[in-house]
Amino acid sequence: MGALSYSQFDDTIVALATPQGIGAIAVVRLSGPQAISIANAVFHGKDLDTVDSHTIHFGTIREGKEIIDEVLMSVFIAPRSFTKENVVEISCHGSSYIIKRIINLVVGKGARLAKPGEFTKRAFLNGQFDLAQAEAVADVISSDSEAAHQAAMSQMRGGFSKDIKQLREQLIHFASMIELELDFGEEDVEFADRHDLAKLVNDLKVIINQLIKSFDLGNVIKNGVPTVIAGKPNAGKSTLLNALLKEEKAIVSDIAGTTRDSIEDEINIEGVAFRFIDTAGIRETTDVIEALGVERTHSKMKEASLILYLFDLVNDNITDINKEINKLENLGKPFIPIGNKIDKAPAGLVAQLKEDDRFIFISASQQQYLEELKDKILDQVNLKNIRSSDTIVTNARHFESLLKTSQALDDVLTGIGSNVTGDFLALDIRQALHHLGEITGEVTNDDLLANIFSKFCIGK
Ligand code: GDP
Repeated sequence: MGALSYSQFDDTIVALATPQGIGAIAVVRLSGPQAISIANAVFHGKDLDTVDSHTIHFGTIREGKEIIDEVLMSVFIAPRSFTKENVVEISCHGSSYIIKRIINLVVGKGARLAKPGEFTKRAFLNGQFDLAQAEAVADVISSDSEAAHQAAMSQMRGGFSKDIKQLREQLIHFASMIELELDFGEEDVEFADRHDLAKLVNDLKVIINQLIKSFDLGNVIKNGVPTVIAGKPNAGKSTLLNALLKEEKAIVSDIAGTTRDSIEDEINIEGVAFRFIDTAGIRETTDVIEALGVERTHSKMKEASLILYLFDLVNDNITDINKEINKLENLGKPFIPIGNKIDKAPAGLVAQLKEDDRFIFISASQQQYLEELKDKILDQVNLKNIRSSDTIVTNARHFESLLKTSQALDDVLTGIGSNVTGDFLALDIRQALHHLGEITGEVTNDDLLANIFSKFCIGK
């Protein structure tokens, strides 16, 4: 049974599929034509060459007489597996020693160590899914907020790919009509109505430009919004940061078994991650900050997509505050002016500042009005877009390809406008098709694939 292969690869790869380090269990994954026979050769239990696909078998892994571990073997027969090849997943105890022994053992029987992303690459090359979906596998694994998870899931399940394929099909239709004209040479026939073509290209451009625009949001969803807390020394920056993070920590530690280490200095508001940058700067003593000067604060503000700017309502006066607001406006970045220390603020100043409805007033130390602040923060991200079913581009490579597609479509339009001959039009349409095809992998090359999959970890 194991001999039956749907794959274009004749070697069998192996890697640890679960994270490195000690765990209750670990999974070692084998994929390739010999996956089942190699697993069978080290397994004492049922004869795996005779079992059905999608079955699990208890037994031991042995080297000679020595029992290395008690394991469960999950068997998937090609093409009904992730890679469309024969796959065996060995669930063993999560000791690095046992894992090493098992991997060495199966390598001794003819498997080879997998390269980074090789399982997903095989799944792609064997036709399990297209390139955009393969890339989304990595995004699903690394997503750490609701919005990132949703976008990655929809891409992995093919939502984005479907949109791109539909666009391509319409263009292919026109390209072939024009190429048909070329076959007729001098006869001056026009199968592809130029007016219809221009309309189609314009329609496509609207859709593609929407996708291009969505990348701003997609990038935010995937990577979090880089946010900076700024303001003069003693305005309350570190108090606010701690208050926001403390709440977040309490929420996160409610979820059993989670640690905050991986998402340090990040808060999650309704599924969107806001990542505080340069928090080390905030935690440094005021002396150090002053020594480093305003320069650095400004460069950090430029890196951020959102600035939370704190004013000290107790010690600042209206003239200084207005000057600072002016400077912030000149930066041209979204910012939220925050009046801190409302618990001790002079009413006159607050009344004056309230005339500017961008202002929000809080007390960081008393943890007052932090929910209102969070609402304001969330307003900065266009949530309408996230909630809609529109496709959102989250991948920088796709974004680049869409830009190039849009450029090629412009060339088509210019060509139609200046009545160029069909062969030139066909060339530009083919160019647009090429760049659209790069996204889903209809058009690909070894360098591109190597580049994409080398960013995956080994075992994925
Ligand atoms: P930073 O230099 O901007 O990081 O400011 P800190 O967070 O260190 O705060 C400076 C001082 O202001 C500390 O003594 C805080 O306790 C105090 N402070 C911060 N927030 C508030 C607030 O909302 N109300 C009052 N009354 N004091 C505050």
